[in-house]
Amino acid sequence: MLSIVMAILFGIIIGSFLNVCIYRIPKGENIAYPGSHCTTCKHALSGLDLIPVLSFLYLRGKCRYCGQKVSIRYMVIEILTGLLYGAVYLKFGFSLEGLMYAVFAALLIVLTMIDIDHMLLPTRIILFGFIAGIIFRGIQAGGYQSLQFVLYPFLAAGIAYGLFYALFYGAQFLLKKEGLGFGDVRLVGMLALYLSMNLTFLTLFLASVLASFYGIILLVIRKKSEPFPFGPFLNVGAIIALFYGEYILSWYLGLL
Ligand SMILES: [Zn+2]
Repeated sequence: MLSIVMAILFGIIIGSFLNVCIYRIPKGENIAYPGSHCTTCKHALSGLDLIPVLSFLYLRGKCRYCGQKVSIRYMVIEILTGLLYGAVYLKFGFSLEGLMYAVFAALLIVLTMIDIDHMLLPTRIILFGFIAGIIFRGIQAGGYQSLQFVLYPFLAAGIAYGLFYALFYGAQFLLKKEGLGFGDVRLVGMLALYLSMNLTFLTLFLASVLASFYGIILLVIRKKSEPFPFGPFLNVGAIIALFYGEYILSWYLGLL
């Protein structure tokens, strides 16, 4: 019981760091320096201001120094990260896999928010995800004394990347415009490294279904089709696949 609370609190603290990443990485700013400050009055935050969630509630969502409203999104992301870390702990425990999926969840949150804000999946975040994934899979393979733990995810990453790469150029060729962003292609390769083959295909399926629904709703509301980022749907699909993929796949296979 205590350890799940610790996992959630740890996630909330990580979430407050993710907020910094989401805000600064697209601007090309350093994520470590300068320290956290109000984005309106630039006043450095210290002590109580830095406590995630609580400081937001205590200051009623306003900057202590200039009174500017602080977006509630910061707190939502902290809580979301906390809940995801709790879920990762419940499923994988305090293990190498747990640590790997904690990093994975953090990557998905940052990539989703930046894609929503800027329609962009920064290459250096995905590259970081690839490198971290390769290291985790390498340690796993060493620990199990078995190459398949490292080979399958790599194979999945290669195939998913190749398929999406073909899809990307196919769509460009057929539609004479960019359907998918190239960032999406890289992202799918990265997801596959963490999810391996079956869950990656489930992720692609879930993402397509969710994005189609969203596209239709957008079309009905706005009365014209508008481009929207695909990354968030891939990431939500990946989270569903990570936690419920086995159930969904065995249910589906049971239907056949
Ligand atoms: Zn301020």
